[in-house]
Amino acid sequence: MAALLLVYLSAQGIRHMRVADASQLQTDHFRILYSGILPAEASAIARQLEANYEPVNKSLRNLYHPLITVHIHPNQGAFNEATGLGGSKANGTSRGPYTIHLMYQTWFNTFFPDDMRKVAVHEFTHCAQLNILLNEAPDRAAADFEQRFEKRFAEQYPRWFWEALSDYEAGMVNKWSVRYGMRSKPSLQSLNQGNMIYKVGYTAVEYMVKKWGRDKPALFIRTYGNFREVLGVTEAEFEEGWRTFVKEHY
Ligand SMILES: [Zn+2]
Repeated sequence: MAALLLVYLSAQGIRHMRVADASQLQTDHFRILYSGILPAEASAIARQLEANYEPVNKSLRNLYHPLITVHIHPNQGAFNEATGLGGSKANGTSRGPYTIHLMYQTWFNTFFPDDMRKVAVHEFTHCAQLNILLNEAPDRAAADFEQRFEKRFAEQYPRWFWEALSDYEAGMVNKWSVRYGMRSKPSLQSLNQGNMIYKVGYTAVEYMVKKWGRDKPALFIRTYGNFREVLGVTEAEFEEGWRTFVKEHY
């Protein structure tokens, strides 16, 4: 145990010496501002974001998206201070369509760190969803557009889909979490609250894509989650089919 602790502490010490002070990295579509992580870790995030940029934008039909700034923080304190999320344990958040914050998880600061490259793509997919809704909103010229948009988004855009689509595009799924999460037969409405959506959300979009086609999430975004219009079924029918799909595939 003492030997293990020593290995851990010296590894942490070595990491501490190697991580970067405030640095930046610019790619075609992202500006990455980071500190307290290794330059190779920032590069890996940049590569994953660029690799997913065109495929995600193409499938969601996100046509024009200005440069996105990605702030990467080395610990929860710095992340929470920068985002204003006091007491948060989140490892990522998007702030509007052009800004992402990541709390870089490692074995030194988290029990089971997430793959931060996937977290980055998850947050980028939030940016894409918001960018589409903003760009295609009909009343953009109105003086009170922003307030009205925010209100409509908060009240009408389904949170379960907001998170599920981001997990889907990032490839964030774990079959044990899916099985655990589906045992209680959650409704989509119930997934609008709490953290269960992160266990099962991927499969809801996976089901939508496999049954109705890769173009459907793009339409689902634009209709604020209208099952009848986009898929020709009711929400209850979708839920029933989704549960059967999960039972067969997970
Ligand atoms: Zn999210």
